[in-house]
Amino acid sequence: MAAYETQTHDYDVVVVGAGGAGLRATLGMAEQGLRTACVTKVFPTRSHTVAAQGGIAASLSNMGPDSWQWHMYDTVKGSDWLGDTDAMEYLAREAPKAVYELEHYGVPFSRTEDGRIYQRPFGGHTTEYGEGPPVQRTCAAADRTGHAILHTLYGQSLKNNAEFFIEYFALDLIVTDGRCTGVVCWKLDDGTIHVFNAKMVVLATGGYGRAYFSATSAHTCTGDGGGMVARAGLPLQDMEFVQFHPTGIYGSGCLITEGARGEGGYLTNSEGERFMERYAPTYKDLASRDVVSRCMTMEIREGRGVGADKDHIFLNLMHLPPETLAERLPGISESAKIFAGVDVTRAPIPVLPTVHYNMGGIPTNYWGEVLAPTESDPDAIFPGLMAVGEAGCASVHGANRLGSNSLIDLVVFGRAAAIRAGQVIDRVGAVPSTDKGAVDKALDRFDGLRHAKGTTSTAELRDQMQRTMQLDAAVFRTDKTLAEGVGKMEAIAGKMDDIKVTDRGLIWNTDLMETLELTNLMPNALTTIVAAEARKESRGAHAHEDYPERDDANWRKHSLAWVEGNRVKLAYRPVHLEPLTTAEEGGIDLNKIAPKKRVY
Ligand SMILES: Cc1cc2nc3c(=O)[nH]c(=O)nc-3n(C[C@H](O)[C@H](O)[C@H](O)COP(=O)(O)OP(=O)(O)OC[C@H]3O[C@@H](n4cnc5c(N)ncnc54)[C@H](O)[C@@H]3O)c2cc1C
Repeated sequence: MAAYETQTHDYDVVVVGAGGAGLRATLGMAEQGLRTACVTKVFPTRSHTVAAQGGIAASLSNMGPDSWQWHMYDTVKGSDWLGDTDAMEYLAREAPKAVYELEHYGVPFSRTEDGRIYQRPFGGHTTEYGEGPPVQRTCAAADRTGHAILHTLYGQSLKNNAEFFIEYFALDLIVTDGRCTGVVCWKLDDGTIHVFNAKMVVLATGGYGRAYFSATSAHTCTGDGGGMVARAGLPLQDMEFVQFHPTGIYGSGCLITEGARGEGGYLTNSEGERFMERYAPTYKDLASRDVVSRCMTMEIREGRGVGADKDHIFLNLMHLPPETLAERLPGISESAKIFAGVDVTRAPIPVLPTVHYNMGGIPTNYWGEVLAPTESDPDAIFPGLMAVGEAGCASVHGANRLGSNSLIDLVVFGRAAAIRAGQVIDRVGAVPSTDKGAVDKALDRFDGLRHAKGTTSTAELRDQMQRTMQLDAAVFRTDKTLAEGVGKMEAIAGKMDDIKVTDRGLIWNTDLMETLELTNLMPNALTTIVAAEARKESRGAHAHEDYPERDDANWRKHSLAWVEGNRVKLAYRPVHLEPLTTAEEGGIDLNKIAPKKRVY
């Protein structure tokens, strides 16, 4: 057994992650007087949420008529009928409340002439249950909305006496007698090991975009929560659904917000044609992301890409008034200059669909409680553990997330987790003592990696994984590419046993940290490609060339994936079809959200 001295901390709640989801949960817990610790591997305001540009969806009706029922309809349709109805209702209904709370906490939203929160149009957001024109539903703080939210929530959390453990890397969950009782962490700047015992652990660790070669997400988005959950023997859900954003800057992958098209930007091919008019006559460049990404890929495959290699597409903003660019899109004007050398007032931006968001993740109910589904109870709760934000899968985004629906997911479900924790946590009871065996197991794994003497470096193996995922689990998928990809990924995951770590230190050991992150990326990548290979239909982001139609009779179900070594075991659980409120109680008319073909 590895010999490490540990320091122990007892809390009511430990939140792992300080992005929008983690901070909203932390703030909500602390506000209720729960003793709350927030553990994060990067400084809170460096979490990926800081990069969110376009905005946060809520039916405030500040710029024209809107309703939560229309928002719910758009979310259901956006999800390609894979989202859970109760969770989607909760999201759309609670969204305005959650945004006004942000406003009152101090988020500096852009304003309309009469002082209300400014809202812009975003892809897939409509009026009249998809029958009316696009709606302006996306609340924005210029094109730096995530930045504004994150800084505000961090300040508010400190004000409410939440305690932060910054640059602590969570290694593994502690499971004692079938419930989560804490988490083991490594403090990056002094090498000490910390055991956090808690009545509730909340995973808010973000997505796993870095399983792919080209992604808009930060290098820290390595799916650590999913890795920890998989190692605890729990399943991941709907991992085959990976969103490609239509407009990553060609070459760097840096994001140009959908807000750019919301403000009037449009895409053109090598013939200068505004091709989205052909594919989506009504909503054109503001069709949902999976649709636009697929159309762009189709144009490129048919030889109408731009550039020397005809391998990308142009995004045009030159026709927009310079004041709009300066006021509403200052950040992306800067990104285009730095990453593509383009002055957006004079030339189009070269763009390409780039991995952007993971719809799949740790299965939860709409309170954020993690599920451990069994055949007899597909909604069984795993006690002591919650997951929120991109790491979780509630599931509101189903097979495809609408733009600006993630930031609202972070705050609605971060808030919901806090409300729930306030109800279920026994405030007077003792913090559970954790199983020493479970702590030792986590430290043995840590020590094994620290002293790994194999032949493949972490960087080499990560590169193999990223290239395989990029090639075989991308926008277009076929039986052949997916089957080959599964074989390759099993072989690559198998090489984790042969990993080589050269730095044996404990202080700022980035070699070891990246290796730990790779052990988390790997189960995320593996479950993604195996679940994709198994799903014989096209739905949302999972566009399968051999099965071009959605198949509700056989496939309207969530996939569950357990990892065993370098293999994945699959099972399925039903989609929740029941809303929280009936039409008589003011809820949505279920006929409005009955499955139909998804056209924009
Ligand atoms: C460039 C970009 C622009 C976007 N724009 C928008 C937008 O305009 N609107 C919208 O709705 N969505 C947008 N999204 C999506 C949205 O921003 C993300 O889905 C969301 O920010 C994820 O938030 P999160 O809180 O779940 O995780 P993150 O913000 O990624 O935070 C993860 C946290 O977990 C911590 N963590 C991770 N692993 C560990 C570990 N092992 N130990 C300790 N701590 C750990 C990190 O330190 C970090 O604090 C955008 C995404 C990108 C990449």
